[in-house]
Formats: sequence, structure tokens, C-alpha cells
Amino acid sequence: MDMNLNIGVIRGDGIGPEIVTEAMKVLDRTAEIYGHTCDYTQLLLGGASIDAHGVPLTDETVEKAKKCSAVLMGSIGGDAKVSPWYKLEPSKRPEAGLLGIRKALNLFANLRPAILYDELKGACPLKEEITEGGFDLMIMRELTGGLYFGERKTVEENGVMTAYDSLTYNENEIRRIAVRAFDIAMKRGKKVTSVDKANVLDSSRLWRKVVEEVAKDYPEVALEHMLVDNCAMQLVKDPKQFDVVLTENMFGDILSDEASMVTGSIGMLASASLNETKFGLYEPSGGSAPDIAGKGIANPIATILSAAMMLRFSFDLDKEADAIEAAVARVLKEGYRTVDIMSEGRVQIGTEKMGDLIASYIA
Ligand code: NAD
Repeated sequence: MDMNLNIGVIRGDGIGPEIVTEAMKVLDRTAEIYGHTCDYTQLLLGGASIDAHGVPLTDETVEKAKKCSAVLMGSIGGDAKVSPWYKLEPSKRPEAGLLGIRKALNLFANLRPAILYDELKGACPLKEEITEGGFDLMIMRELTGGLYFGERKTVEENGVMTAYDSLTYNENEIRRIAVRAFDIAMKRGKKVTSVDKANVLDSSRLWRKVVEEVAKDYPEVALEHMLVDNCAMQLVKDPKQFDVVLTENMFGDILSDEASMVTGSIGMLASASLNETKFGLYEPSGGSAPDIAGKGIANPIATILSAAMMLRFSFDLDKEADAIEAAVARVLKEGYRTVDIMSEGRVQIGTEKMGDLIASYIA
């Protein structure tokens, strides 16, 4: 069925505009081949919004974003040592815009795929026998609850300074993200590993109970529970065992960075933040890389793969998403590399050429 894809675009700062341009090129080519149209709404966020409006996020951006079915974003922010954006108070800096839009759009589920392509396994710090054949896992982290949002205080008790942070989850917060994780597992390897610390924490015991309830609605998906300390070990010992890893905010913060490090290449890692509807904000996992901005050498693949995730999860266009992922796999197989993933004997190309090649390989 032909679709009109109503996509918000935040070009962002630093390398953002360069990598988003290539992702749009690939989206346009995919739409052309599969008979869809892309209708883009440009949105300002972060440094670009500060330059235009004096604040990193305006109500206008939030309202416009809400009218889109999904938003594709390049990274935002600048070099804190030299950029005037960082002379502003913290609530007016670029990153505050990102937190603000996530909150305004109620994006509670953060998805970070960690994929090791066989062709890039040289960048992976793990032993070859572990990475043979590559791996493909997805960390789903709860983003708006838990320890980072709980009550905290520092007080003096009987002359001793004492600090408290509380880790709270209610069953609704757990259920909504568990449903998202099982939905996504249905589109992938049909396995969910729910990570907790249920041998110690009450919040983890409730987490486990609610995840088990949700699993009953997904008889095709295999559910396993894993303690977070074991998961940290398993990610480096045998990452191939994982499909979707579902976990709470702080555990996910740590495990998603661990999972991305084992792939070895920041320019390859996509991400998505989702809410209860089909809406999602899709962006590369890396930052705005001010050190290489404007040089035409940034790797656009993470952003292109984020666009593929957008087609899959916000528009249910799985075939089209597969086509983008296959085109990325093909350029890598043919030996084309941006500088960040370059190795001996390969062909080094820039941002634009990488986008052109991937777009031309869409089939
Ligand atoms: P960074 O990810 O921007 O850069 C780290 C290193 O990775 C740099 O050497 C950079 O050149 C390289 N790199 C990153 N993406 C690349 C790509 N696509 N191709 C090739 N190389 C790439 O992290 P940082 O330097 O710590 O942060 C820079 C700015 O980005 C800061 O203002 C930070 O706040 C912001 N940031 C934004 C987001 C976001 O928008 N979600 C996330 C992280 C950092």
C-alpha cells in the first residue's frame, strides 16, 4: 500500500546536517522504489534553535513534532570548550532541548541496537571465536523512571552526611515498556531477555512479575530472566545469545554503552526513543562530533540505519527497512568505508559518497 510518510526532521548541530542529508537521500530513494512519498517538516532543536530563538526547544517545535508520525534527528550540541551555547545556564544549553523534547513527547522506551557486521569485526575488541558470524541484539532501556527520576536528598544524620536516591517503578510503567519489547521481539528473533536484580531489589521483583504477565500475550516469544551482573558478563562472553534485552533505566544506561562498545564503531549505531503510540524519535547513538563537522568525512550509516528503524517501528514498513539494511551490508561487503571504520585494503570514501552508494543499492 502506498503511504505518505509524515516525517519531522531535526538536522541538528555539528555533523548533524551532513548525516541527516544522507539519511533523507536514502529514505527518498526507498520511497521512490516502494511507491511511497516522504513529507518532511523541518524542526529546530539544540544549538540551531538557540541561534534562531535563544532557547534550545520552543513550543512550536514540540507542537510541530506532535503532528508528525516520526522524527529523524541528527545529533545536537557543540564543543563545550569553545561554543557560546555553553556560556548559557544549563537549562538553556543544547542538551536541555533534547531532554525537553523527550519529556514533551513522553518517550519512555529507548532502543539501541548493537550489530556487529562480519566485515567490521576487526573493530570489535572481543576475541574472534566469540564474534564469528557477527551478532545483532537490541537493548531496550526504560527512559523516564527508576533511580534517575526518583526522590533524592542529602542530609546530615547524627553528624554523618547521608545521601538517598530512590528507585521506584509502578506496574504500569513496567507493563508499557514490556509490551513494546515483546512487540519488537515479534519483528526480530522472538526472544526477550529481561534483566533485573530480583535477588535483591523489590522494584526488580515487581519488574519480573509484570514482564511474566505480559509474556502470556506473546506465546511465540521466548522469555528469559537474567540478573544484571550476569548480563554484563554475558554481553562480552557470548553476545550472540541475545535478541531483545529489556531493562530498567540505570541498568540499561550501563548495558547499552557496554553493548555499543563491543561493536567498536560509534558511527554505525542507530537508536530510537518510543512512546505508547507508533511515534518515535530516531537518531544516531553518537554525538554531533564537532571535531569533524563540515569536513565531509562523518559516517552517515548510524543515521541511515536509524531511518530504517523508523520505517520498521513507526510505519510498519519492514520490507523497506530490510532493503536499507541490506544496502548498508552491501557497501560494507564491497569494502567501502568512511574514515572512522577504515582498515587496510578497503576503499575510503566521504559522507556524501557513502549516502549515494547506499541509496543506489536500495532494491
Ligand atoms: P561524539 O559522539 O560527538 O564524538 C566522539 C568521537 O566519535 C569523536 O572523535 C567523533 O569524531 C567520533 N564520531 C561520532 N560520530 C561519528 C560519526 N558519525 N562518524 C565518524 N566519527 C564519529 O561525542 P562527544 O565528543 O562527547 O560530544 C560532542 C557533542 O555531542 C557534545 O555537545 C555532546 O553533548 C553532544 N552529544 C549529543 C548527543 C545527542 O544528540 N543525542 C549524544 C551524545 C553527545
